[in-house]
Amino acid sequence: MLSHNLGYPRVGSLRELKKANEQFWAGTIDRDALQKVARKIRHQNWETQQNAGISLIPSNDFSLYDHVLDTSLMVGAIPGRYHQLLDGKSNKELDLYFAMARGYQKNGLDINAMEMTKWFDTNYHYLVPEFVKDQKFKRYSDKVLLEFEDALQKGIVTKPVLLGPVTYLLLGKEKEAGFDRIDLLDSLLPIYISILKELSARGAEWVQLDEPGLVFDLNEKEKLAFLSAYSQIREALPKLRILVTTYFGPLEDNLGIAIALPVDALHLDLTRGAETLPQILVDDSFVSSTKKLSLGVVDGRNIWKNDYRKSLEWIKTAVNVLGEDRVLVAPSSSLLHSPYDLELEKNEAVLTPEIKNWLAFAKQKLHEVTTLARLATLDCSNDSAFLANQKAIESRRTSALIHKPAVKARVSEVRESDFDRQNAFAIRQAIQLEKLKLPLFPSTTIGSFPQTDEVRQLRAQFKKGALTLNEYETRIREEIVDSLRWQEELGIDVLVHGEFERNDMVEYFGEQLSGFVFTQNGWVQSYGSRCVKPPIIYGDVERAEPMTVKWSAFAQANSAKLVKGMLTGPVTILQWSFVRDDQPRKDTTFQIALAIRDEVIDLEKAGIKVIQIDEPAIREGLPLRKHAWKTYLKWAVDAFRLSAAGVADQTQIHTHMCYSEFNDIIDSIAAMDADVITIETSRSQMELLDAFAQFNYPNEIGPGVYDIHSPRVPTVDEMILLLEKALKVIPARNLWVNPDCGLKTRKWPETEAALRNMISAANLLRESV
Ligand code: GLN
Ligand code: ZN
Repeated sequence: MLSHNLGYPRVGSLRELKKANEQFWAGTIDRDALQKVARKIRHQNWETQQNAGISLIPSNDFSLYDHVLDTSLMVGAIPGRYHQLLDGKSNKELDLYFAMARGYQKNGLDINAMEMTKWFDTNYHYLVPEFVKDQKFKRYSDKVLLEFEDALQKGIVTKPVLLGPVTYLLLGKEKEAGFDRIDLLDSLLPIYISILKELSARGAEWVQLDEPGLVFDLNEKEKLAFLSAYSQIREALPKLRILVTTYFGPLEDNLGIAIALPVDALHLDLTRGAETLPQILVDDSFVSSTKKLSLGVVDGRNIWKNDYRKSLEWIKTAVNVLGEDRVLVAPSSSLLHSPYDLELEKNEAVLTPEIKNWLAFAKQKLHEVTTLARLATLDCSNDSAFLANQKAIESRRTSALIHKPAVKARVSEVRESDFDRQNAFAIRQAIQLEKLKLPLFPSTTIGSFPQTDEVRQLRAQFKKGALTLNEYETRIREEIVDSLRWQEELGIDVLVHGEFERNDMVEYFGEQLSGFVFTQNGWVQSYGSRCVKPPIIYGDVERAEPMTVKWSAFAQANSAKLVKGMLTGPVTILQWSFVRDDQPRKDTTFQIALAIRDEVIDLEKAGIKVIQIDEPAIREGLPLRKHAWKTYLKWAVDAFRLSAAGVADQTQIHTHMCYSEFNDIIDSIAAMDADVITIETSRSQMELLDAFAQFNYPNEIGPGVYDIHSPRVPTVDEMILLLEKALKVIPARNLWVNPDCGLKTRKWPETEAALRNMISAANLLRESV
């Protein structure tokens, strides 16, 4: 049985590409040195896949920065503002590429980067293609041909991977009014066809066209675009074998379109859309055709060992209907979203052999795919690989490390009333007004202060054992007290302790909760050279003891002003981790929510009167299909409410969100019922507030008055203007004054100057009303 892979991680097993890219941008290595690193990674990836026995190995899945940007360059969709960089010299191609990715400030030019957004519902971000009304396409980059040739020279006939033309258009944006980007298909296709022809001429037998757009809600025109694209491609290339892949969800109403495509093979993601398999196997037109079916049985987006029994059942069901020759075995999606290699995890004290035995990273997943292809045609009851796999699965299913009856019982005993505060917001607001005695337009910040090298050093030294606990904590306390004095001097109303003790807003909590484990090298590309190392939630989550109370209580004891407690919300902790696949996401989130709830109650007991629970990732969790939004939003909002509702009315609960549009989820944001929400709005000039205004959002709200992503210090006037704009749509008594987000990436001088101006703006505004 044929096995294949959809794509392999490309940053290098030790993030070599990240480092080389950053050196190239800093000017410390040249183009050739960068390309050499890139080439080495490609070669290693191909070898790894060859050694694992993968039959069809992908090429062009590599990218220096982003594969959607690569596609824009392939078809010459280069926005006008970059044309000044196109002077035909070949050495400039990289300059242009990185200018589109990161912006360009050199030689008197100042060109901004392309917009970046999330790749489906993953944490990978791509550069959004930009289209204009009279968009012209032309072949520009031959990367796909070069990489095919490169592998060919090593004796590997790869399966080139291209982002399919329809999904490419769907993922882009119209930059002017008066046209629909889907209508660009007919002018885009000749580019694809010319490249496919050349690939075929050079010896490519299979090509993979990724069309995950088929798991979106599509209108009729978009559906027809798929049919039109693939019949034109088929007509131009009758012999080339074309594999169309779908992933990240079931096909649902798009199944008929997918089946009708005149291609040689169709790939399904069974880890996120298993229901499509029985549907396709009873479809006469598919079954009676000669098309192959690729089964994505090994999860490309998570780190759990595959359950061979379950996968083989799927494979055997398909083989029974289609026969062995028509079935391929594969990961569910590209392995881009998995860390490289479990064998790099050597620290047994952290990742114990028991837990490690439940995991598989990209390299291990390749072996799972080829083993499954081998086992598919055998009686595997005595096969050692099969037996070892089932033993690991059984160990995970029953491990006392994972399963804590008390935690499960507590979740099952959650009652409706646990989601509700004592009284409705209007009553709480009156009580808080009296107890907290905050002025009109209270000011605050979002939590973190600059993480200077010194602060990072402190944590690193402590981790290494170079500082004792006592020395470390003394230094952190000094930082906190300094920042409190400084906030008081500035005149901020609700202070923060600064989060100096935290490396990362999820990791900090994960390290203190049971059921989490951390890797040393489990990096996954987030965008460009940025990689993240998500914690792994493997077991039932429980809080052994208070996590933040010591620091918050210390800070409150050192100031006569209110100091805000600072927590990360359950949905964000879930969303930024690798999650369990052995229970619904909702259950894991509720377990985390109960742990946070206990922390909130303990903070209240310790005298903290204002507590913020950050939920920047609520929107990221939205399902790809609209009909599934309601269910998700219900439990996500419930999880937040569960974490927040254990306190008395006089305790003020804040939440914070950034990078969000709120229009289509505003009712859910309101249902979270935080007393105060702070949001990012300054870059949209308060436009994001409109959703709150139209909804008559009842609770208090702090629309960020300045962008913390830039070192630029905003003027007092600018911020007053934004606040006045906000006052047009929010009642004065509900308006807070704060920056867009936490300040950890900023430096102190600009932070101080910006906050000083922000406080002046708040004061002037108070005087004017
Ligand atoms: N409290 C966090 C901070 O200030 C919030 C970060 C975020 O919203 N991403 O750093
Ligand atoms: Zn934020």
